[in-house]
Amino acid sequence: MSTATTHPVDLSVVRLNERAILIGNIKMATIFESGISRRALIAAAAGTGLLGLRFANAGETATPDESADGMMGLVSIYKLGALTLHCYMAPGSSAAVTTQIVETASELHIIDTQFVQALATEVRAYIDSLGKPIAGVYLSHWHPDHVLGGSQFSDLPYTTTAEISKDCESNQQTYLKRKETFKDDTPLVLPKGTMQLGVNSWDGLQVVINQVTDCESEHALTFHIPEAGLMIVQDLMFNNAHAFPLGNQTNWISALNDVRNTEGLRLLGCGHGLPATTGAIADSIAYLEFQKSVFGTEKDAEAAIAALTKKFPNFDGQSSLRFISALYK
Ligand SMILES: [Zn+2]
Repeated sequence: MSTATTHPVDLSVVRLNERAILIGNIKMATIFESGISRRALIAAAAGTGLLGLRFANAGETATPDESADGMMGLVSIYKLGALTLHCYMAPGSSAAVTTQIVETASELHIIDTQFVQALATEVRAYIDSLGKPIAGVYLSHWHPDHVLGGSQFSDLPYTTTAEISKDCESNQQTYLKRKETFKDDTPLVLPKGTMQLGVNSWDGLQVVINQVTDCESEHALTFHIPEAGLMIVQDLMFNNAHAFPLGNQTNWISALNDVRNTEGLRLLGCGHGLPATTGAIADSIAYLEFQKSVFGTEKDAEAAIAALTKKFPNFDGQSSLRFISALYK
């Protein structure tokens, strides 16, 4: 099984497994369109187990803000000096994938667009409710769980780097197949590859954008805002959540060590799970080390999933574990 850790998995292989996971969301989207009341929608969602999502053990993460109760996703809000981070996190059935909203004095900057339209619509409504202009939407990496909600942001400047734009272009078939599975007939909206790495200014705040190579995905962005002690690392970290068994764990761990060695960090925005403090980086590294060892020793996907679940019993994002079956084919 050693090849599994060096070659990224073709995500389309596990399409069928994901259909089962996302049935709940598709149902909810359908209910939404039928004009049923919000109260009934919430009751229906509660019946599918998709509401009331909380990590069993939030560990060192801040307490989520309760004001957004009644939404399918969970919004947590962090005041960090000159900026406010609003983290929108999908339910576990949509892999607890996040959209990060950075609010400065007079504008908003958005990172990643969700997986399914029902959740992308919800996060866009939340963003619009903040009442500030959206200066930009950015994509952290090409994976479908961060990209497919793009059609809810098609009226805005939406960018990434030239390399990630290329990753997106070469995975168009994966996106289209996934949208078909979800019965999602919105247009596929991809970002322009015009983003500049290095020091950027968001409403006067210094934002250092860095691109890591060959970690969880081929190319991935981190956004460091030193004045706020914030780094948004997206899929470099799965906080209290199972990580996708993808990419190059050795490089990935080394990138996490670079984050750990960054001075002055107070909060990390993660691609899956709630924002974390820096203490959680060690947990992420331990998870990746254990994941790597499990794929080397366990004889089949079931045994590997059982070993990971036993070692990390309180982790969310169980749907990510289904990807393991593709490694053993
Ligand atoms: Zn992801």
